[in-house]
Amino acid sequence: MTTVNQVFAQIDSLTPQPGETEAISLTQAMHRVLREPAMTSEDQPPFDRSSTDGYLVRADEPAKKVRLISTHSPGQSAPPLPPAGSAIRILTGSALPKHAGLIMQEDTRPAGADFIELLKKPDPTLIRLQGSHSRKGSILLPAPSLLQPGSITLLASLGITQPKVSRLPRVVHLVTGEELVDPNQNPAHGQIRDCNSILIRTLLTSFSATLVTQQRVGDDRKLFRQACRLSLATQPDILLLSGASSVGDHDHAGSVLEELGFTILLRQVSVRPGKPFILAQNNNTLAFGLPGNPLSHFVCFHLFVRRALLRLSGLPPPPFLSATLIPGVTITANPRETWWPCHLGSDEGSLTAQPLPWRDSSDLSSLAQTNGLLRVPAGQEARSPCEVLPTIPW
Ligand code: AMP
Ligand code: MG
Repeated sequence: MTTVNQVFAQIDSLTPQPGETEAISLTQAMHRVLREPAMTSEDQPPFDRSSTDGYLVRADEPAKKVRLISTHSPGQSAPPLPPAGSAIRILTGSALPKHAGLIMQEDTRPAGADFIELLKKPDPTLIRLQGSHSRKGSILLPAPSLLQPGSITLLASLGITQPKVSRLPRVVHLVTGEELVDPNQNPAHGQIRDCNSILIRTLLTSFSATLVTQQRVGDDRKLFRQACRLSLATQPDILLLSGASSVGDHDHAGSVLEELGFTILLRQVSVRPGKPFILAQNNNTLAFGLPGNPLSHFVCFHLFVRRALLRLSGLPPPPFLSATLIPGVTITANPRETWWPCHLGSDEGSLTAQPLPWRDSSDLSSLAQTNGLLRVPAGQEARSPCEVLPTIPW
């Protein structure tokens, strides 16, 4: 059976290049992937500025008492240097002339009408010099970069208001299972609530992809095939099939994909939870047949689908971090590699992973506390340090 690492390598080879780019506004830029380095088109700061409220004098002003000749506000262009023996009232952010001296307001006192007394010498460190943050032409944000509030603010400060970013991957999610009802319905005996639809919808919001179509399609093979065919007309980058990926009477995912022209690349992966797993390709669409049990759906999304989404966006695969195992449920050796739901925390500055209980892959009792998956290699017990994959954006 294919190992998790082999699936990783296969996904990487199927997504050798990031997808196309598009220009967007900064208000849409959160969690998008910048594809063009952000370069300064001018020095930063663009002119010498005051970092304080105070007084502008000549840098070599010898007098202790000077005449106040005018007031200068931020937003105006720099005033000429005042003549010796005089000062200009300056506010934080005001543009300054060359050879300026600045004295903080706290280091002065009134000395009769229109005069102030200078209690200290001008302090050059009060001036934010042109180009002291960065020089024209410097790259302040390399590409690719995942855009966050800090980086979006930086782009705004540079006047980059239409950044070039990766187009969002387009995803279709078809949910099989005659037994499923919408979560807002009361299931009859034998029915269960569909959890995978909201799971994938929210995961795609967190990991930046467009959900083009999402549909419950039951277990009728003909209807399932038709739904697949129609959804492919929207040219998704990724087709996600929920359930129907194993070998049961209703498990049509593999044969329907083949009929629709997909090449099946693998049908099983040695992972727990999540063994029935299909990976297939047709032109520019990757199809994932994900196990229907919600915990397996969750794990296979984080291990495999998320990796493909990141690579299509131009980002490296998600980081596996090293954590200290702390007491939780005992994890014994299993022939399959296990990705165990855990709670990531910290203890004296180190990352910790506490395994959470789950009885089987339909058991969601711990999913609300789960913020990571802990890797337990095949045939081994869990031990410290362990490898973990955060399941919230990190
Ligand atoms: P399958 O992969 O179709 O064999 O489904 C495996 C198990 O997961 C079955 O017990 C299904 O009832 C359950 N299941 C499938 N899809 C969902 C879903 N969307 N939400 C909750 N449970 C599901
Ligand atoms: Mg099913």
